[in-house]
Amino acid sequence: MKMPNLMESKKRGQSKVEIIRDDFVLDDSLKKIGKDKKYYIKTYGCQMNLRDSESFKALLEEMSYTATDNYEDADILLLNTCAIRENVHNKVFGMLGRIKHLKGKKPNIIVGLAGCMSQEEVVVEKILKKYKWMDFVIGTHNMHRLPQVIDEAIKKRGLEVEVWSKEGDIIENVPVKRDSKYKAWVNIMYGCDKFCTYCIVPYTRGKQRSRMPEDIIKEVKELVSDGYKEVTLLGQNVNAYGKDFANLKYNMSNLLEDVSKTGIERIRFVTSHPWDFTDDMIEVIKQNKNIMPYFHLPIQSGSDKVLKLMGRRYNRQSYLELFNKIKKAIRNATITTDIIVGFPNETEEDFKETLDIVDECKFDGAYTFIYSPRAGTPAAKMQDNLSLMEKEERLQRLNALVNKYSRLSNEKLLNQTVPVLIEGYSEKGNDTLMGYTDTFKLVNVVGDKKHIGKIVNVEITDVKSWSLNGRVVDAD
Ligand code: SF4
Repeated sequence: MKMPNLMESKKRGQSKVEIIRDDFVLDDSLKKIGKDKKYYIKTYGCQMNLRDSESFKALLEEMSYTATDNYEDADILLLNTCAIRENVHNKVFGMLGRIKHLKGKKPNIIVGLAGCMSQEEVVVEKILKKYKWMDFVIGTHNMHRLPQVIDEAIKKRGLEVEVWSKEGDIIENVPVKRDSKYKAWVNIMYGCDKFCTYCIVPYTRGKQRSRMPEDIIKEVKELVSDGYKEVTLLGQNVNAYGKDFANLKYNMSNLLEDVSKTGIERIRFVTSHPWDFTDDMIEVIKQNKNIMPYFHLPIQSGSDKVLKLMGRRYNRQSYLELFNKIKKAIRNATITTDIIVGFPNETEEDFKETLDIVDECKFDGAYTFIYSPRAGTPAAKMQDNLSLMEKEERLQRLNALVNKYSRLSNEKLLNQTVPVLIEGYSEKGNDTLMGYTDTFKLVNVVGDKKHIGKIVNVEITDVKSWSLNGRVVDAD
């Protein structure tokens, strides 16, 4: 049993990042474990987790499991979790509560936990006490060992915990089964060294490790030759890409430039910490039309006092300077953000400064959250002196403003024709298609299924706060 240790995960030593490029070969003894059996994966949280789940799917299929959409039919259930907010913890434990009865019906069912929650001591201790009926917990650093961990759990007939609390390596060549045939997530780095005071990610994902440029470019070129139209370069803080290279001067603007030469039609990147956003990046984005004019630039608060308590390393003024620089340089840039309300010691005045910066920036969209203390982080030790009622009331006021500007941003597109990558059918049904504009706006589209997988011109016929409606014009 290898238990997580948050304090170990926090350490940043001099140990060299190993890049493991061995071909992925599964032992024959593991290949038939899932024969005639089904798997179900529930993914919580960010795009990194969605991408990790694509590898979990591939690993399970290498073991001969097949996918099911119904967790009650599954022989193996894997919850790929997120630790960023308490409500995800509650959802995960709620899901485990619903799964437990299946163990009574099908004793051989295997239930596992992966993702950021598995790196938290408090979570694994709770599982060992109250969820002993589970079969395994696997950490983020050793996720490629899923087949071996499942094998151990089956042999042991008891709870197997394998969580590494190290700074982290880079494992290339882990198989992947992508959810889309047209757009792909491409990890460019793992971990984060920013240690914002509220954030658990530097503990659960380890130190910043950038993938080598040649490995990323090779992956994108393969995607191009497989017919992919769009890649999203992923990392917790992509703008810091390359800062951890010991003997290579190569940064995010270099990477964007090189990826733009691969022939991929659309490039996006998330998530950007404003601190590391450089003028060179803006220039490269401006010069290369296949880098999309969409920026997710988390501000978190409009108050300098709160930003300092959060350890965000920028202030209101420097954020605004960057915001305006991007808007000035990139024609039709859209900028979305993240905002936390109710951080410890946030006064009404501080909150009004957040409303004020939203009024000033008129964000095209914002993901808004109530502050949620994470055990082990510095902010969790600060006195959380606001009632939930106050936090909820602030969130409502903020959301009303955010929705207003999101709608106004969408209204500018009414009757305009915009490029949309059609990804498939919309949840709306009735043969409606869906896709995203270059500026990352969701559009429900009247069109033909022959448009799926293509970037087509769409005339916007109606707007809502969070989506658009349109119809395909002048496509084949
Ligand atoms: S930059 Fe992002 S991932 Fe890193 S500590 Fe701050 S909030 Fe967390």
